[in-house]
Amino acid sequence: MDFALTEEQQLIRDAARDFAQNEIAPIAAEFDASGEFPADTIRQAGELGFMGIEVPTEYGGSGLDSISYVLVMEEISAADAAHGTIVSVNNSLFGVPLLEFGTEEQKQAYLRPVASGEVNGAYALTEPQSGSDAATMRTKAVRSADGASYTLNGKKAWISSGPVARYMIVFTQTHTADGESIGISAFVIDTSEPGFRVGKTEPKLGIRASATCEIEFEDYLCPVENRIGDEGQGFKIALTVLDAGRVGVAAQAVGIARAAYDAAVAYSRERQAFGSPIGSFQAIQDKIADMKMRIEASRLLMLQAAWSKELAKKTGARNTLNSSIAKLYASETAMFVTHQALQIHGGMGYSKELPIERYFRDAKITEIYEGTSEIQRMVIGRAETGLR
Ligand SMILES: Cc1cc2nc3c(=O)[nH]c(=O)nc-3n(C[C@H](O)[C@H](O)[C@H](O)COP(=O)(O)OP(=O)(O)OC[C@H]3O[C@@H](n4cnc5c(N)ncnc54)[C@H](O)[C@@H]3O)c2cc1C
Repeated sequence: MDFALTEEQQLIRDAARDFAQNEIAPIAAEFDASGEFPADTIRQAGELGFMGIEVPTEYGGSGLDSISYVLVMEEISAADAAHGTIVSVNNSLFGVPLLEFGTEEQKQAYLRPVASGEVNGAYALTEPQSGSDAATMRTKAVRSADGASYTLNGKKAWISSGPVARYMIVFTQTHTADGESIGISAFVIDTSEPGFRVGKTEPKLGIRASATCEIEFEDYLCPVENRIGDEGQGFKIALTVLDAGRVGVAAQAVGIARAAYDAAVAYSRERQAFGSPIGSFQAIQDKIADMKMRIEASRLLMLQAAWSKELAKKTGARNTLNSSIAKLYASETAMFVTHQALQIHGGMGYSKELPIERYFRDAKITEIYEGTSEIQRMVIGRAETGLR
């Protein structure tokens, strides 16, 4: 088995690291404090090809593989997890449904501008009353009697990049003009059209520079050409997208954990107590060993999930199990490592002078979005037992 990255993968990782450390890391604390969307660095990330890493070049992307995607996600998230969220939404949550299920026209009209970094995308599945149990969504699309359009009404919640997105993937309960239910469907919508409204913006614990808000639809008219896949296929599309997205969240978690770990090791070498660097104490070395071991294991699971995602693209198979395992383990590692890193920093870990408390706050989201840890365990448990 060959664990080495290809030359191309190393180049993209190094380019992402240079960009993340030189352009993103210096502004991360400021944007975390203000909660402002980092439009300039996100534009630069788009120019570097990081908004459509796996999207073929004919649709405005970089045409790279799934390993390259996780390498970029790790590097960007090691500098700032909020940037990681924005990059992941454009690449996975917005890009995958169009790439896998979209028509040629949809790819040219909606995927291209997002993958090339011209505008931002978003993904609206969650609603105020339905998160883990997404199938109980209430947002409704009613097909017109002539079949030419749908009228959307309802409210979505917790939509990352919602306030800034030009285009959005939206999931709805779908009905005929006579009121007959035809299941969940997916649409790509233009947020500049009437009937779309940005609702309340969420003040958040972490990833504060990634804008998150409620979205309201009031008689939003969506042409039938904007439906992705068939009527009633929406839930399958949503789950396929999450299979891909969870690999990116695993990489985000590895990036956060790595940043916290590197800072903790450096601090443990410098900080003196009782006449010695604290890193010489067994209690601190034990923490460092546990952090290191879990980060390495997370990265291997992340790479395995990216490798099997690439394989799944060729065979058409789902990549559910490996992506859930990687997301679950890496997100719990990010929480564990940021907790330990803060402890190693003592009082300074609690201070806003250093980024440690930000890593600690940012890590938590990886255990919640794109399926909580409880849901990942459910997915893995069901897959292993064959029982529901
Ligand atoms: C910052 C942020 C950004 C987000 N971005 C997006 C986005 O861009 N698009 C989008 O559509 N959504 C987004 N979300 C929503 C996110 O995916 C949901 O918050 C998440 O899926 C959990 O849903 P919930 O919050 O409704 O919690 P609930 O589903 O109400 O869960 C509450 C608790 O119950 C547990 N639970 C629920 N069901 C079970 C079960 N069967 N077995 C065991 N435990 C269970 C959960 O694990 C959790 O601990 C975002 C959320 C946040 C916080």
